[in-house]
Amino acid sequence: MVSRLNFLSLGSLFLLLIMKPTLIIGGGIVGLFSAYFLNKEGIEVTVIDRTDLRENCSTGNAGMIVPSHIIPLAAPGMISKGISWMFSSKSPFYIHPRLDMKLAKWCFLFFRAANETQVKKAIPFLKNLSLLSKALYLDFKVEHPEAALALQEKGLMMAYQTESVEKEEIEFAHLARKYGLEADILSPADIRKVEPNLELKARGAVLFPGDAHLDPGALYGFLKKHLAEKGVKFLTNSQVLDFEKSNSKVQAVITDQGKIETDKILLCGGSWSGELAEMLGFSLPMMGGKGYSFLQENNPEIKQATILTEQKVAVSPYGGTIRFGGTMEIAGTDQTINKNRVKGIFESINRYYPDFKAKFPEESKIWKGLRPCSPDGLPYIGFAPGHENVLVGSGHSMMGISLAPATGKILAELHLQKDTSIEIQGFEVGRYS
Ligand SMILES: Cc1cc2nc3c(=O)[nH]c(=O)nc-3n(C[C@H](O)[C@H](O)[C@H](O)COP(=O)(O)OP(=O)(O)OC[C@H]3O[C@@H](n4cnc5c(N)ncnc54)[C@H](O)[C@@H]3O)c2cc1C
Repeated sequence: MVSRLNFLSLGSLFLLLIMKPTLIIGGGIVGLFSAYFLNKEGIEVTVIDRTDLRENCSTGNAGMIVPSHIIPLAAPGMISKGISWMFSSKSPFYIHPRLDMKLAKWCFLFFRAANETQVKKAIPFLKNLSLLSKALYLDFKVEHPEAALALQEKGLMMAYQTESVEKEEIEFAHLARKYGLEADILSPADIRKVEPNLELKARGAVLFPGDAHLDPGALYGFLKKHLAEKGVKFLTNSQVLDFEKSNSKVQAVITDQGKIETDKILLCGGSWSGELAEMLGFSLPMMGGKGYSFLQENNPEIKQATILTEQKVAVSPYGGTIRFGGTMEIAGTDQTINKNRVKGIFESINRYYPDFKAKFPEESKIWKGLRPCSPDGLPYIGFAPGHENVLVGSGHSMMGISLAPATGKILAELHLQKDTSIEIQGFEVGRYS
């Protein structure tokens, strides 16, 4: 018996020795949470990124964990709103009109998905993914009390000033309750209890107590350090340029630093995932949804994580500091800063919090990020079409922080050929191939 056990462990040791590392392309939050769950399973992982991993979309966003966001970006109301917003340079949503076939195709697919039937189909998938992710964040907090995560379980408040948005938000609160989520409708007097230090000018708000928020930079920094300590390798400043394939299997990844052989790859390239998919020969429609954020001294102290709904501005307080973020400019992969759009966020602050001492940020203090947006607002999670050793985790749009743990866990399960924790048909990678 003992010798048989020895033989088995020697066999698995041999297998481990001849196996090539799993390569994760893209060290954003989705790539890092995938590395986290693979590493826990004893899989050898290398994360490749073309940057030095100091900045990407995962570092300066609003850090909200939002099981309440069960409706994808491509929803019926978005088309009429999007069109009216397009005429203002400070509006929350903007598509810079340009001659670009990829943009035209993306817009066509977005309009096609923005209907009630598609949204109804999407809700249970998004809800389950979000709830799994929130549960994994809670486990993560217990397992890593040393992480300066500051996961604040205080819910998320959607504050509104106009009658039309009030109607939409209350309708949404009822829908959320129908799907089993908690949603409290607050009067101005209720808001004063939640936000005692300064006036929040609003007709009312909906509070989702199941939501939370965290400091994304602290989470990202902790994950990088923790993974390196656990033996995950990082290949930074290395851009993936191509792949070597044999039939349906990728055998090597070609970077500007050389070739790396592999048995399995995970494609987690954020807004650039469409380009990576093109190199592999399948279609993964993707547009960068550019947004900005900046930190301020939190004075007088705002306590509650909030979305200023008419302006779609996210407010994430961290005690003495606070982050304001927002705007969505369908920008491809252009990363230039459009100050007018930052002004749009800035001017929203005093429109809702007239007493807040806001200062327009210097250009060097403005953070920008490209949200990886799929046209139907649902992420791509699973095996790449026509490839037996390529997994994809991308397209999480404005919910990448929220959904990264669940995505990483599911990709690790698929890698190990296990059943997935939740149904993932809604996230099929090949749905546009
Ligand atoms: C203003 C703003 C506020 C937001 N607020 C929230 C929020 O409150 N909650 C939430 O859940 N989400 C929020 N988001 C969205 C969230 O930030 C993104 O969904 C998430 O960061 C995407 O993570 P990712 O890992 O997919 O992509 P990224 O973080 O962009 O990482 C992709 C990585 O892939 C690398 N890469 C790409 N191509 C290659 C290549 N060829 N070779 C090597 N490396 C490559 C890139 O360098 C990059 O590091 C917000 C976004 C913005 C802009």
